[in-house]
Amino acid sequence: MDAYTALTRGGSPWTPEFVVSLNQKTCIGCGRCYKVCPRDVLSLEDRDEEDMDEDMDEDQMSVMTIKNAMDCIGCGACGRVCPKNCYTHSAMPVGA
Ligand code: SF4
Ligand code: SF4
Repeated sequence: MDAYTALTRGGSPWTPEFVVSLNQKTCIGCGRCYKVCPRDVLSLEDRDEEDMDEDMDEDQMSVMTIKNAMDCIGCGACGRVCPKNCYTHSAMPVGA
């Protein structure tokens, strides 16, 4: 596929990788991704009780959610700082 490509300030092609999904089963609610996201994409929310596993402790009462995926600029920062490798990113096909 031809991926949507942006340019760096110096004019070099750069392919944004947009956030596609977040594995809430592995998320520990640490908030690192939220702190580095430059856009209004992510939101830390209370975990539903039915989503709690027996081995989860109180720190895991919160879980990150993708609340506004359309605001993502594809910088990839959330995935780089996540200690649990929760994120999946993907380039966007031209015309999508
Ligand atoms: S890729 Fe960048 S803009 Fe998109 S959710 Fe992650 S940190 Fe935010
Ligand atoms: S950095 Fe990873 S583990 Fe931490 S809140 Fe974000 S998605 Fe969850």
